Formats: sequence, structure tokens, C-alpha cells
Amino acid sequence: MGTTASPSFESELFDTFGEFNRDWRRIAITEAGESQLQGMIAGVKPGSKVKRIEQYVNACDFCKKINGTIATVVDANHPNKDPNTMVWPGKNNIGRSASARKRVGEQLINRTPDEMYWLPAGLAHPNCRGRWVPEMEMTSPQDQKFAAIVAGFLANT
Ligand SMILES: [Zn+2]
Repeated sequence: MGTTASPSFESELFDTFGEFNRDWRRIAITEAGESQLQGMIAGVKPGSKVKRIEQYVNACDFCKKINGTIATVVDANHPNKDPNTMVWPGKNNIGRSASARKRVGEQLINRTPDEMYWLPAGLAHPNCRGRWVPEMEMTSPQDQKFAAIVAGFLANT
């Protein structure tokens, strides 16, 4: 065999490393998504609300469950963090699992809550396509007054 890669050598490489190619694709998707979400949450003013949006109908059960969840963004040092209603920069599912039980030796035992997936600031899992969007609130009197003016204007057009 010469020094240039023949098509068969390329396909041999691809066949040998195909699994790694998929891994790299997964890593790229996952790292980009995680960076995007964690960066967004880190840039949101504490106390703001964000809404979880799942992109795909064939999402996993966990992502379907958290789809539409409105969470309050808090500082990572917030003293009373509620993991079900709050997200903070760095909150992730690394080392956690979606499955309620784990195998220890020959037995399946229940995972503790701190071993289970929680509402993450970033992705729920590798290849996850979940996103956060800012949740707008129109609760101040000025906002409600303005909303009424706009509604009235639109009703007359
Ligand atoms: Zn998922």
C-alpha cells in the first residue's frame, strides 16, 4: 500500500472509527447546546422566569415532562434553592439518571433523589435539544394598562 489514502483505506477508517464519528457528532451537539443554555441562564437576571421548550415530538419522557416548565433563575449561591422550580448557572444532570433504579451487583435498587435527573439549567442529557426562552410577565399595573390600550386599539382597526 502506498502513502496516499485510497478510497478503500478511507472506508476502512470509517468502518473502524464510525462509532467515534457518531460520538464526536454527539459531543459537538451536546457541548454546543450545553454552552448555549448555561450561558443564557448565567446571563439572565436572578428572579427572572424562563420557560423550557422541547423541540421534538419524539423527545424522551423526561424532556416531555419538563416541556413548558416555567422556572425562576436564581444565583448559584441562593440559600434556599428549590430544584423543582428553580434553575441556576451550572445546574446540570451530569452523574444523574432518568431511570429510577440502578444495578448494584446482582440487585436493582432504587436511586435516591440526588441521583435522579432534575430540571437542569443546561441540557437534560447528551443529544438533548431542550431550550429555555424568557417568560414574559405582564403583571405590573403599567403593563396591564398598556396591554388594555393596545387591545382597545387593535379591536378598533
Ligand atoms: Zn430528553
